[in-house]
Amino acid sequence: MKSCGVSLAAAAPAFSDEEKKMAAGKPRGKTKEGTLSLTAEEREELSGLDSLLFGFLNLHENGAKTETLLLKAVCCYESLILKADGKVESEFFCQLGHFNLLLEDYPKALSAYQRYYSLQSDYWKNAAFLYGLGLVYFYYNAFHWAIKAFQEVLYVEPSFCRAKEIHLRLGLMFKVNTDYESSLKHFQLALIDSNPCTLSSVEIQFHIAHLYETQRMYHSAKEAYEQLLQTENLPAQVKATVLQQLGWMHHNVDLLGDQATKESCAIQYLQKSLEADPNSGQSWYFLGRCYSSIGKVQDAFISYRQSIDKSEASADTWCSIGVLYQQQNQPMDALQAYICAVQLDHGHAAAWMDLGTLYESCNQPQDAIKCYLNAARSKSCSNTSMLTGRIKVLQAYKAHHPNTEPVLGLSETPISQQPLPVHMITYSEVDDLSSPAKRKRISSPAKYLEQLRTDRDHLNPTQKLMLQQLESQFVLMQQGFNKGQNSHLPGSNDEQPSFSTDPALYLQAASTNIQTSHRMLPTSSITQGIAFNHLSHTATSGDQQGICCTKESTPSGNRSFVPEISSHTEDTPNGCAGVKGFSNRVQQLMAEPICSPNSRDSTSPNLISDNPQMSSLLIGKANESMMTGACDKVNSIHPESHTKTNNSVASLHSSVISTTAAKSADQTTTLGVTSISSPHIRLQTVNGKGLENSNSSKNTSLPMISRKPDSPIIPSMSVSIYSNSTEVLKACRNLDKNGLSNSHNLLDKCPPPRPPTSPYPPLPKDKLNPPTPSIYLESKRDAFFPPLHQFCINPKNPVTVIRGLAGALKLDLGLFSTKTLVEANNEHTVEVRTQLLQPADENWDPTGTKKIWRCESNRSHTTIAKYAQYQASSFQESLREENEKKMQHREYSDNESTSSDNGRRRKGPFKTIKFGTNIDLSDDKKWKLQLLELTKLPAFVRVVSAGNLLSHLGHTILGMNTVQLYMKVPGSRTPGHQENNNFCSVNINIGPGDCEWFVVPEGYWGVLNDFCEKNNLNFLMSSWWPNLEDLYEANVPVYRFIQRPGDLVWINAGTVHWVQAVGWCNNIAWNVGPLTASQYKLAVERYEWNKLQSVKSLVPMVHLSWNMARNIKVSDPKLFEMIKYCLMKILKQCLTLREALITAGKEITWHGRTNDEPAHYCSICEVEVFDLLFVTNESNSQKTYIVHCQDCARKASGNLDNFVVLEEYKIEDLMQVYDQFTLAPSVSSSSS
Ligand SMILES: [Zn+2]
Repeated sequence: MKSCGVSLAAAAPAFSDEEKKMAAGKPRGKTKEGTLSLTAEEREELSGLDSLLFGFLNLHENGAKTETLLLKAVCCYESLILKADGKVESEFFCQLGHFNLLLEDYPKALSAYQRYYSLQSDYWKNAAFLYGLGLVYFYYNAFHWAIKAFQEVLYVEPSFCRAKEIHLRLGLMFKVNTDYESSLKHFQLALIDSNPCTLSSVEIQFHIAHLYETQRMYHSAKEAYEQLLQTENLPAQVKATVLQQLGWMHHNVDLLGDQATKESCAIQYLQKSLEADPNSGQSWYFLGRCYSSIGKVQDAFISYRQSIDKSEASADTWCSIGVLYQQQNQPMDALQAYICAVQLDHGHAAAWMDLGTLYESCNQPQDAIKCYLNAARSKSCSNTSMLTGRIKVLQAYKAHHPNTEPVLGLSETPISQQPLPVHMITYSEVDDLSSPAKRKRISSPAKYLEQLRTDRDHLNPTQKLMLQQLESQFVLMQQGFNKGQNSHLPGSNDEQPSFSTDPALYLQAASTNIQTSHRMLPTSSITQGIAFNHLSHTATSGDQQGICCTKESTPSGNRSFVPEISSHTEDTPNGCAGVKGFSNRVQQLMAEPICSPNSRDSTSPNLISDNPQMSSLLIGKANESMMTGACDKVNSIHPESHTKTNNSVASLHSSVISTTAAKSADQTTTLGVTSISSPHIRLQTVNGKGLENSNSSKNTSLPMISRKPDSPIIPSMSVSIYSNSTEVLKACRNLDKNGLSNSHNLLDKCPPPRPPTSPYPPLPKDKLNPPTPSIYLESKRDAFFPPLHQFCINPKNPVTVIRGLAGALKLDLGLFSTKTLVEANNEHTVEVRTQLLQPADENWDPTGTKKIWRCESNRSHTTIAKYAQYQASSFQESLREENEKKMQHREYSDNESTSSDNGRRRKGPFKTIKFGTNIDLSDDKKWKLQLLELTKLPAFVRVVSAGNLLSHLGHTILGMNTVQLYMKVPGSRTPGHQENNNFCSVNINIGPGDCEWFVVPEGYWGVLNDFCEKNNLNFLMSSWWPNLEDLYEANVPVYRFIQRPGDLVWINAGTVHWVQAVGWCNNIAWNVGPLTASQYKLAVERYEWNKLQSVKSLVPMVHLSWNMARNIKVSDPKLFEMIKYCLMKILKQCLTLREALITAGKEITWHGRTNDEPAHYCSICEVEVFDLLFVTNESNSQKTYIVHCQDCARKASGNLDNFVVLEEYKIEDLMQVYDQFTLAPSVSSSSS
């Protein structure tokens, strides 16, 4: 705990004098000035209170005393700050932030943390601060920032005692952001941790199951849910929720059996769910839907009725009731029900649709039009084109029948007891009607708030919290967030009562999905005669699914319903109100995941904004209205730190440019470059200038120092790396022996890595399409000419195309042709990516309506023989199409056909294509001739060479230090990425077709990372295809060129790139690591960034650094310093950990290494584990040696009882390697 918090004692000195005076004068009461003061005991108690106790401090039951103390402390601190005119020590603000956080006064907590942040430059060393800040951001749904804060906590302190809570919340946030892979990882990390957190492990398991369901992995989901049901003593609420999910899933998902079985299963599950929790309005609603779909009308009505009785009124329930009435030919009742629905949720597209058709069936086209307009306006409506078509038809009809306005028919409908005949309710009145739903229950947040306010003094803690949340909610709403019709806009969701615990509100929010699934069954079972159907028939061309105003008649509605786990946590003794609010919000979030397969590509319609602008806007607004004014830049906590550094980055930048520009220009002249401009026409017209020009322009430079000067992963050598290993050892022995945390070594902690901000100043628009550095080879001599190597590894050249390489070296590329590959190994495995054939340089959503970044492809496997067949038939098919097109041309002699062809393709649907990728050519028996041929290449691009860092690993990393093959048809896409750990890559096009490349310099990866975040994509893990217009807007230069057969593309360290095949071709590729400072630095930086992002680094940089020290003579002082620094850091960590384990009485078992033993990774969190491996007793005795890192081992077994510690290296050996690694005298020739 001691490492986690900033104690009050530390903060106190600034005030101690004053405090003492005050305490001496009036120890308990108020001072003359009316200021409270704290007693010594109180201070002592306060010193133990910080953000770590959030969710674990039961303020409302036994903690009344603590609450009083916290309130007093806040008062006291505030008045002291006031008196000191704000000139107090920064820790004071941090502590104030903690107190306010524990009191759940979020605006004040944020304000105080913000002050601390602005005063404390190394705030990132304070894990408790970052954690508290993350919790506040989480509360405000500012997930973008919450994720950053939480990731930084784990980075600066991997052993953080609330790591489990962080993983849980990261899992939830990534789930909302549709980054399911990361979400699952964090849930699993939370699950293995035996420490307490605010959700129980069955609840976490539930989220994992729900995550599968969200991803449409229904069988996995079903299995996981069923497994949960087997849990002993499963809490009733969890059980009810699991059963509810299973029930609804069976109702919706075709995969789970035939219709009849599914429905009866669904009903059984839902009934069981209601046994566990009879008060779930949601389960009743689902049950109603199930009954409705099998025609049990009476049961359906009863269930809906129950739903309305049990829960707050919901638009969906009323809408479903309306449908049921309409099926029963009771339009009056249907009308009322729909009106309830749209009053509860003005953006409820399905209800508007239904209301419209109802009006239409009653010959009130004018009113119908208005309803359709409302439906079309709703964001939850995706089929607007159909609607607008219908509106036009009605308008035309009206024009021809101007006098049909009054109502026909309905007055004859045998409905009694209707207070308002349908013909008297016109659209304009709909909005003003007091709906039965509203009359019956308090259904609007406003009403609820009102009621809570009235009873303010008699509220239980939960209600109090709710009141507080609603109040802040309303402040936001009053500020214009609440624009009724936009209630489903992704960005405007903040107006949704997402902080509220009112289930009605949750349901409203969930309605986007419910209404979609709502379309599925009720409408399809409507009797044919009803007017209701006629719209659907016109619109969906006979689609039995019905109107389908929203296209998601696919089973998606189930995803919206998320478990009311909150009501359960509420009751757990330590659950505390914070958790309740928290899980409620989480429910809210889950209410709106992906809607249909088609809409997956669209920006996710999450309820909370993941958009930083929106989030900061939200917080900014909150700030204006709710904060005390102490905080004036709430929304800029992180951005500020970026802007601070812009200038220094820029100046460093330009100095690098000026020195290196001249050099590379020289080199290329000696190489006899015939042309440097890209063959691509667009480039030539934009700037067909020479190389000098491109080199002196800033855009082509790769900043050597792209990192913020104040946050180097490898800092400048303030700590001497020249001290020998004995001194290092001595220093480590003097460390605090109690602390097992390896963060307490002599070195300062490294600040968490951050992506670089966009290089400054921004490039002018006319420099955004730079010509690609290209070198034409004419002879073998050219290829081996050393300056070629220098040119490629020059950080100023993000990419180099070596043209005609195969020809110059007389490489037999035929060895990699599809024909030869089939002859050699026809059964060899090919990974297949099924992709959409997109227009040349664009990426559209599957419906062809808008350009997006997400670029999904499904993975499967086949053989070389089968892919070869596909490749060939694709070619023949294309020839045939070409011929047909020519024929058509002749027939119509139509010049427009090409342009109209483009237009048509844009609108989709897109053809699917298959891309054969990652074909492993590592086996030197299978691929002997091929691999032998590649040894003809110059050393610096060879798969294996002394100057290639990846050759010093001592083991294979498939695809990195081995060759991979790609088999393509036109349109095959390799989405945007940097290479693993920013290594360089070599790619040779075998032909016969061309490939087109898009390349962005390393320094802009932060900008691309931002774009990915904005698009709910994970820069490292997701598949994305940049929108060139976005990049242009953001002043990101893009190199674009064609790679012809025989051309080698050299991708420099860290360069971002994406590639698509123009024709039919094969490519071969692998990575290399030149022995340069820039390569090493970028690799280490990515290693750290991966750690922050919980992504595995394929290159084990620690292992590699030690191998480099053993095997390589380094003469570049810069590279040497970096390696030596890393070695020292690792050595210190090993020594410290070793000492600490021994002190704690933990035995260390010698294990040693075999020669080609690969580097080790933690089987849980995937960080590299060096030297000391934590292996469970079982795994050790079975000799499976499943490795854990120390932190994961301790999460599973606090005192490591269940683990043995295996030692890989003798400390003396490491010390010797460290001492013997010295700067080699510089050799005049180049590094390889
Ligand atoms: Zn681990």
